[in-house]
Amino acid sequence: MEYITKNLEELLKIPSPTGNTEKAVLFVEEKFKKLGIVTKRTTKGALIATIEGKNKDKEVTLSGHVDTLGAMVKEIKGNGRLKITQLGGYVWNTVEGEHVTIETLGGKTYTGTIMTTKASSHVHGEGTKTVERNADNMEIRIDEKVSSKEDILNLGINVGDFVYLDPRVVVTESGFIKSRHLDDKAGVISLLGIAKHLVDNNIKPNYTTNFFISNYEEVGHGAAATIPEKTFEFIAIDMAAPGEGQTSDEFSVTICAKDSSGPYDYELRKRLIGLAQEENLNYKIDIYPYYGSDGSAALRAGHDFKVGLIGPGVDASHSFERTHIEAIENTIKLGIAYLTK
Ligand SMILES: [Zn+2]
Repeated sequence: MEYITKNLEELLKIPSPTGNTEKAVLFVEEKFKKLGIVTKRTTKGALIATIEGKNKDKEVTLSGHVDTLGAMVKEIKGNGRLKITQLGGYVWNTVEGEHVTIETLGGKTYTGTIMTTKASSHVHGEGTKTVERNADNMEIRIDEKVSSKEDILNLGINVGDFVYLDPRVVVTESGFIKSRHLDDKAGVISLLGIAKHLVDNNIKPNYTTNFFISNYEEVGHGAAATIPEKTFEFIAIDMAAPGEGQTSDEFSVTICAKDSSGPYDYELRKRLIGLAQEENLNYKIDIYPYYGSDGSAALRAGHDFKVGLIGPGVDASHSFERTHIEAIENTIKLGIAYLTK
């Protein structure tokens, strides 16, 4: 599990908001290559790593997405502050006060903070509390001596520049991992863990297995194309959503029965549950009320294969996320069992 924690920590720290994921994809590509696994890239920039199976006529594909939430410069304000637009969906409160890095087209970076336009209680009084957290009332204060639009342009910052949210990575002694971007880097690292187990132990999976690292999940079309043709089963590994009314937790792997996109394949679900029981894993079965996955994207795009969704429980998703190493461990074990039993 040391391999997992160390690489997860590193991956979490590489900015990869949806639309600008190359550095993170490269990192994952390197890891697969180091394991001696053949990889290729799709035109859209996704990564496919493939391990040959006992059966080469049929293939299975496991996906995880490396793209995360983020923001983009929407408008340069006359006072030298920046309006931003969201990349992926989240509530503005969850980024209030967040430290950010802005990257210009030329590759220069600047730091700043996301705040409301009424941030000082000594200046705005009640307004600090009541101002609605929305795109119009949130702005970035850049850590540079700027007070006009021109000052900002002179820094090389422009509309469309990517804004990276501080990933806030903390690994505790008690085994918790906190970071903004566990969705879905905890899933991607699970895929690496599965691949490493197969390679280290010289195990051939039942079917040729593709690890599909998608880079546009947060905007809904990550796995919409370029899934290897012979795929007959597709398992998305993406975070589970614990919370009120949910069965998922931060220590188990969840097998998802249904999300907003509808039910996942029944037969596949039954098999995954059977495997989890056989392997004595901590597992849950859950339904996510506001959720879609790369599995849903693949089905909507018209693919004809069975789709399942499993993943580690991540508390406070698209907010201040946290999981426990045990949830990742259970996910990896279920993935291995699925490929080899
Ligand atoms: Zn996700």
